[in-house]
Amino acid sequence: MKKNYYEILELNSGATQDEIKRAFRTLSLKYHPDKNPEGAERFKEINEAYQVLSDTTKRKQYDFQSSGNSFSGNWGDMFSSTDGFFSGFSFTEDVFERREVVIPTLEIECYCSIKDAVFGAKKTVKYKRKTWCSNCADTHIRCNNCGGSGVIVEVRGNGYFRVEQRQPCNTCKGSGSIKRRTETCPPECKEGFILEDFTIIVDIPKGIDKTTLLRIRYGGHESPTKKGQRGDVIIKVIEQPEENHERVGNDIVITDEVRYIDLVTGTSKNISMFNDKDYQYTYYIEKWFDTDTLIRLCDGPFAGGKTYIRVKLHIPKQDLTSDQLESLKRICED
Ligand SMILES: [Zn+2]
Ligand SMILES: [Zn+2]
Repeated sequence: MKKNYYEILELNSGATQDEIKRAFRTLSLKYHPDKNPEGAERFKEINEAYQVLSDTTKRKQYDFQSSGNSFSGNWGDMFSSTDGFFSGFSFTEDVFERREVVIPTLEIECYCSIKDAVFGAKKTVKYKRKTWCSNCADTHIRCNNCGGSGVIVEVRGNGYFRVEQRQPCNTCKGSGSIKRRTETCPPECKEGFILEDFTIIVDIPKGIDKTTLLRIRYGGHESPTKKGQRGDVIIKVIEQPEENHERVGNDIVITDEVRYIDLVTGTSKNISMFNDKDYQYTYYIEKWFDTDTLIRLCDGPFAGGKTYIRVKLHIPKQDLTSDQLESLKRICED
């Protein structure tokens, strides 16, 4: 049984050391058991292939054997020369290099009406974002938590399958240093940051869903390590309920109150969509109308949706005279 290490790393046999390293980095990230529980076996193979191909002596021996020549030894020997398959192999140092510090994504909410969701709208949204305090931006002291490396290393597993996990240090956010407060810093300066008020115009696209996430690139917090670099803002656009209007998927249901006599005799009525006079419609109630039935008003305005009217009986809140009450009783004695 001999594995083709080039195939495992998806390379051809002439691959350069750089190509081998790159392939290993890509594949080991892809099949890392932390990310891909199914990938453990493949991950092991990738490591094994890399162990051999990245070592020029081992690679030569491997190539030699692969070319049909015999090899006096076995691969087990090669690995047992150290006290474990992965021992001495600093996986993460080699593979992940120094991780980019992740700028936390800022999440804010923005509200819109059903009409805004139909036609699109521009909304002004104010929020606070972390910005470097200009007074202490250039005063740094070494972080004690990580000794200035910016990285906290955690070793897991055993000698055979050992993975070093490197996380950016929480104290210094991976920068290795901490900004030192100066006398000129305003009271709101916290760990080198102030919260800056910021305003953006959010362009709500036409026909959006009831809840939609919009990403604004580089509008968020400033990087803990790189001045001027900003993370993204995720804007959660939330459609708010509107008087008499309800959205069901891409349909709109408008509730309209009608009189008892309208239901008995049938009639036509005018209604404004979005309570806006510019969107007037007329709908018809049939004689002896059943209020459980929705009346279809029109197609749209959401793509693929329709607009319906739900009629609701209006009950006047007033006492009836004895004559009126008698008449009503007679009518209802059906
Ligand atoms: Zn640190
Ligand atoms: Zn400051």
